[in-house]
Amino acid sequence: MAETKYIFVTGGVLSSLGKGISCSSIGTLLQHSGFNVSILKIDPYINVDPGTMSPLEHGEVFVTADGAETDLDIGHYERFLNMNLSRNNNFTTGQIYLSVIEKERKGDYLGKTIQIVPHVTNEIKQRIMNVGQDSEFLIVELGGTVGDIEGMPYLEAMRQLKHELGANNVLSIHVTLVPYIRVADELKTKPTQHSVQELRRIGITPQIIIARSELPLSKDTKEKIALACDINSNSVISAEDASTIYKCPINFINQGILEPISNGLHLGNLQPDMSDWDMLVKKILSPTKNVQIGFVGKYISLKESYKSLLEAFVHAGANLDTKVEVIFIDSEHIEDSKLANVQGILVPGGFGERGIEGKIAAIRYARENNLPFLGICLGMQLAMIEFARNVLELDDCNSTEFNKHCKNPIIYMIEDFIDIEGNKQVRTHTSPLGGTMRLGEYECHIKVGSRLAKAYNDEKVIKERHRHRYEANPKYREAFEKKGLVVSGECNGLIEAVELNFHPFFVGVQFHPEFTSRLQNPNRVIVEFVKQAQGYK
Ligand code: GLN
Repeated sequence: MAETKYIFVTGGVLSSLGKGISCSSIGTLLQHSGFNVSILKIDPYINVDPGTMSPLEHGEVFVTADGAETDLDIGHYERFLNMNLSRNNNFTTGQIYLSVIEKERKGDYLGKTIQIVPHVTNEIKQRIMNVGQDSEFLIVELGGTVGDIEGMPYLEAMRQLKHELGANNVLSIHVTLVPYIRVADELKTKPTQHSVQELRRIGITPQIIIARSELPLSKDTKEKIALACDINSNSVISAEDASTIYKCPINFINQGILEPISNGLHLGNLQPDMSDWDMLVKKILSPTKNVQIGFVGKYISLKESYKSLLEAFVHAGANLDTKVEVIFIDSEHIEDSKLANVQGILVPGGFGERGIEGKIAAIRYARENNLPFLGICLGMQLAMIEFARNVLELDDCNSTEFNKHCKNPIIYMIEDFIDIEGNKQVRTHTSPLGGTMRLGEYECHIKVGSRLAKAYNDEKVIKERHRHRYEANPKYREAFEKKGLVVSGECNGLIEAVELNFHPFFVGVQFHPEFTSRLQNPNRVIVEFVKQAQGYK
């Protein structure tokens, strides 16, 4: 394979500028131009992985097929590139230091003094190149902003890589903020100038500047940035807020981003075929139908913690030419009147006790009112608890996650499945606190003729991703099935999906279907749920 080309993407002025979307968009354009592209996210924090970080602080933990708990940007990359990435596509400073220190303890450095340069920077370069070697392009997104102490070793590694790999093989892109000052009615370029100065002081001159702003940049503003930052004015890309993130690749082409990319990396004429993509974007922006889904969660003020699921609804909507309106319903304040106004109820995954009784009440409402329901992970577990309490009329039903000593542990922890090396059921554990999670992709064998089978086009075995500790207790299976809540998916004796007979659509899945949903390939069970909700009168 030809030499890998690297695109380093840094951020300026402040975070949350949508660097991840910029990387995904550039990756999409290169991929649709016929190249094999991958993306790597570097998180400069000391945590070894985001698995134990609070969703309030960090947003969603995205799970890859190979079971890594990663930054939510990996989810964006997969959704745009329509491909599976792996645990290697995200690393943190914690992982870099851990491996440098382990090497030092083993004596690998032969007694040398261990320093940020060269030991830490070498470790960083090595990891970047290990990921890059399998593709024609590797886009590397550095988290945080230029000037952060945490980011310094990475910028130094990037500078060195350009020196080592040659200028034709490395392109540097800076994503920055150009704020609009209302009273002056002006877009201000100074913060961008400062941030680029800081980058240049470190030895990196960006070749493309992506300017995030509320308003499009005028020709004059672009020229001002170009002059101050020493680049061509056609290399200043104006990226104003987009009506949907999936429009960004199209906006980038319209701004002529391919020219400086092609010039910088000597690629010749790039002609991405974006026709299918364009059509899906049009369906997102002007759908002809509409459906309202009640989303019963506890982090409703923080939509970032349900990122993949919300995106999966966008994908399903684009596929069904429908606007999926997600109505957030706080699981701590459930009222029937709120539930009565939606056409489907979704209970997402979650950890911890807060809000579970509200979720159970919402599930009961869906079951008793023939309202389409999809329960994901915790959502499935609570659907089973609700059924055990209100249909089987067993007392003291719970998950041992919430009550270790309940009389009827409908959901429980199977110790046997923990840490059996070589067994497909091994639980990956990432830290003492992260403990014994079942993580990543597992097969699910689907019951023929079930609603789940219909959703997955009668496929008998599918693969979906997991992130949970607790399981449905098979002891209650017979009692459940007798009363109509049947197991429609299983894997080596584990209950992976349940559904209710005599209900239009009441499905619970132990896996997280949202992690495999992409714009060009929406998740089947989510599409089916939205379709059923549309049919609800
Ligand atoms: N808390 C539950 C478990 O650990 C569900 C997890 C989830 O919904 N992701 O099994």
